[in-house]
Amino acid sequence: MSTTYIGRFAPSPTGPLHAGSLVAAVASYLDARAHQGEWLIRIEDIDEGRSVPGADTAILALLESLGMHSDREVVWQSRRKELYAAAAERLGAHAYPCGCNRREILDSRLGVAPDGAAIYPGTCRHGLAPGRSMRSLRLRVPDAPEDGITFVDRFAGPTTQHLATESGDFVLKRADGYWAYQLAVVVDDAGQGVTDIVRGFDLIDSTARQIYLQRLLGVPTPRYLHVPVVRNANGEKLSKQTGALAVLPGDEAAAIAALMDAARFLGLPLETPATLAGFWERAIPAWSALLAERKARLD
Ligand code: GLU
Repeated sequence: MSTTYIGRFAPSPTGPLHAGSLVAAVASYLDARAHQGEWLIRIEDIDEGRSVPGADTAILALLESLGMHSDREVVWQSRRKELYAAAAERLGAHAYPCGCNRREILDSRLGVAPDGAAIYPGTCRHGLAPGRSMRSLRLRVPDAPEDGITFVDRFAGPTTQHLATESGDFVLKRADGYWAYQLAVVVDDAGQGVTDIVRGFDLIDSTARQIYLQRLLGVPTPRYLHVPVVRNANGEKLSKQTGALAVLPGDEAAAIAALMDAARFLGLPLETPATLAGFWERAIPAWSALLAERKARLD
């Protein structure tokens, strides 16, 4: 068995890093280091309408002050559009033009996927109706609801999702012309040789869509680990607009405090260290121990 490990942290630069995104960053970094693997940073600015100018450099600077460096050159999705276009091309007849707008899809009352996308009823599957023009590009998913996609999440255990009922034919290229997250993330994880994805639990619902795309594109499926998501007192996911982390370059005490919050949230039993280096020295074996315990419980 190959022992290669390539992990990544893939923030969307829609605002500064907050305590929630830091948990995903720390977990992915610890997992890569615990496996003597590489850790990459990818800026997911594919949705250029939502990207905030300067947020990418602010995120990179913050990670740097916390002692997290990308082992390879950082990539920006907005500069990789030809790769997404080439992948969509390779999908051939699995992809089809869709002329429906969100209102029409919601009116079909199939509901909304956990990520907020309306479940598509398949209206344009067999061609655009006369007079309709293409708005988005969609991926045809298997019909039979029993054709579930199962993967073993290293945190949540075996997980099965059904594309037909949980997302329907999903968008590859959006009506605003941007490539969709689902396609971009699969192309980039494969292109960068990512073997292990560690990210927030809010993205677990996207995993089956991504595995299905990997199968169609003939690329390997990485291992997955979805860590719990930080919520505020009202039980809502933290947004980038609130709770930005205030860690100034060179402020080691603030860096340690932010990392300790993330470590505590992840359940790592650590004493507050005196230095940043000391934090990482203790956090890496603590993460390995936590994962071993989790695995023993799941097995
Ligand atoms: N860009 C996504 C986010 O910031 C993460 C994507 C992923 O890890 O697959 O929420």
